Amino acid sequence: MTPEDEQDSPAERKMRFMYQLRSRGVTDPRVLNSMELIDRGLFVRGQFADRAYEDTPLPIPCGQTISQPSVVGLMTQALNPGPRDTVLEVGTGSGYQAAVLSGLCRRVYTVDRHRRLVQEAEAIFAEMGFSNITAQIADGSRGLPDQAPFDRILVTAAAEDPPGSLLAQLKIGGIMVVPVGQSDAVQTLIRVTRSETGFDYDELRQVRFVPLVEGLGQT
Ligand code: SAH
Repeated sequence: MTPEDEQDSPAERKMRFMYQLRSRGVTDPRVLNSMELIDRGLFVRGQFADRAYEDTPLPIPCGQTISQPSVVGLMTQALNPGPRDTVLEVGTGSGYQAAVLSGLCRRVYTVDRHRRLVQEAEAIFAEMGFSNITAQIADGSRGLPDQAPFDRILVTAAAEDPPGSLLAQLKIGGIMVVPVGQSDAVQTLIRVTRSETGFDYDELRQVRFVPLVEGLGQT
């Protein structure tokens, strides 16, 4: 530790974290407020724990990653969840994105293909009292038919195209945000809005996510 790190109090770290979010385009006050309240440090364990407040993706178990905070902010902002909305998140990962969503909508369903990630995230949700989040082990490329349709769907793994079953589970007027492109390349984050007559697509920015993989994981 350098003397500078020692002087870096939790309040200063949080201030720097919030400043980075704003400077990278997260401007929605509700999203900023939610991200100020949720401690990302809870969702990053082990050797990377001390980097939880940097604006960078970090490794989590099962070979996956917790997304970059500014990307979490920009995706949440694009999703624009309302207080009465039911949201499906595909790709629970660490649980951080679901926690950020929990204060912004009525209910969050979050699914992951890895049992271990779902169990660890559930333990944090229970400990922190995020009682409106339901985490399930499932292949999210098929959505969550039992709870459909959804007001909002957020996919935090990259698909080659927006999965048809997810589009079908979006309400009319609903919004889906999904990174689209080849899994090993830079992908494009897109926002899909469902209207009475079809789907409108907006390209938002370039991103890099782990791939959406069909079927359940081994662990
Ligand atoms: N939103 C997470 C980061 C997700 S990383 C966070 O806040 O930490 C992407 C996650 O998508 C990984 O955990 C991976 O296991 C999961 N995933 C990939 N394909 C999936 C599928 N078909 N169904 C459910 N989860 C999937």
